[in-house]
Amino acid sequence: PTTSTERSIAAAETHGAHNYHPLPVVVASAEGAWMTDVEGKRYLDMLAGYSALNFGHGNRRLIDAAKAQLERVTLTSRAFHHDRFADFCTRLAEFCGMEMVLPMNTGAEAVETAVKTARKWGYRVKGVPDGRAKIIVVDNNFHGRTTTIISFSTDPEARADYGPYTPGFEIVPYGDLAALEDAVDENTVAVLLEPIQGEAGVLMPPPGYLPGVREVTRERGVLFIADEIQSGLGRTGTDFACEHEGVVPDMYVLGKALGGGIVPVSAVVSSREVLGVFRPGEHGSTFGGNPLACAVALEVLAMLRTGEYQQRARELGEHLHHELGLLTGGGAVDAVRGRGLWAGIDINPALGTGREISERLMGRGVLVKDTHGSTIRLAPPLVIGKEDLDWGLDQLRAVLEA
Ligand code: PLP
Repeated sequence: PTTSTERSIAAAETHGAHNYHPLPVVVASAEGAWMTDVEGKRYLDMLAGYSALNFGHGNRRLIDAAKAQLERVTLTSRAFHHDRFADFCTRLAEFCGMEMVLPMNTGAEAVETAVKTARKWGYRVKGVPDGRAKIIVVDNNFHGRTTTIISFSTDPEARADYGPYTPGFEIVPYGDLAALEDAVDENTVAVLLEPIQGEAGVLMPPPGYLPGVREVTRERGVLFIADEIQSGLGRTGTDFACEHEGVVPDMYVLGKALGGGIVPVSAVVSSREVLGVFRPGEHGSTFGGNPLACAVALEVLAMLRTGEYQQRARELGEHLHHELGLLTGGGAVDAVRGRGLWAGIDINPALGTGREISERLMGRGVLVKDTHGSTIRLAPPLVIGKEDLDWGLDQLRAVLEA
């Protein structure tokens, strides 16, 4: 290895487990929608940490909130109260139009928490016989990487060699309301799904599907759990992706952008009937709801309450999808999906794999990530300037024409 980049990547290969295959760029600093690597080369960030960086890198308000909290108190554990906790729960519950909050750290932990909550609610409130609770999920889901969560994944890569798998889940096809309805039985406690499937390639449900799920779950006394970890908090132009279909679930699972790209903050948000099932000692996390996490998340919520980020995502998103729409039909792009500042682009496989397209884009100063096959995903920070977005699109067009 001769360059700093090569040395850094070689060392990472030697001492870091190979559970990722990052693009060959080593980032040293970042601001707004731009990142700078160890060689001083600048890149437009069109991934935004899988939507964790909705407010951009180094956001002044978030950094200031974090710094102020760093100087006061960072961790108490939940053995004691701290003075940011009540505000965080109150504001987040309000923002979601719900009543109670259970904070965790990562997305997967929040999904685990949702699963445990639904099961406990099923036994304590719905009256499901012990050990029989069933949760319905959909195919191509992505909810995280824990043993239970990969147990109901349909992605062989995510599952292989991790058995025995956690029982109690039934998988139905995404978008197929009849199949979902058929799967509901008297022991069903919840339906868990992403209103838009991010990792699967920004897959949108057919119109009417989410309202249909809402109706079935309400009629059958089943909790509707929306995993809005990637789709929520402004990304699609609204607070939640469910809103586009006029749907309010029984439980939101949130993460990523809630921590402002600074600290991992996740949460389950629901009603008192549902989250009220927990008693002391029945669930928890050392870092969940810590003062630093609460301080950053409170600033995130204050920023979201202005509506300006959602509006940016809406307006720039319309522009993005208009421009991407022009690319379809020309042979280079098979399909484009998405909402707001979020797009899955199926590239004609003849032009290369998603990985190859991503590497070519990187060569032109744009960072994106492939999902499956020849699909790439765009999810720039919501603070991206229109000129920068257009420049990024120019690079994409150049790569597709080459
Ligand atoms: N749920 C959804 C919809 C996600 O997109 C992700 C991450 O990509 C997760 C859950 C898992 O979050 P984490 O990686 O923070 O555990």
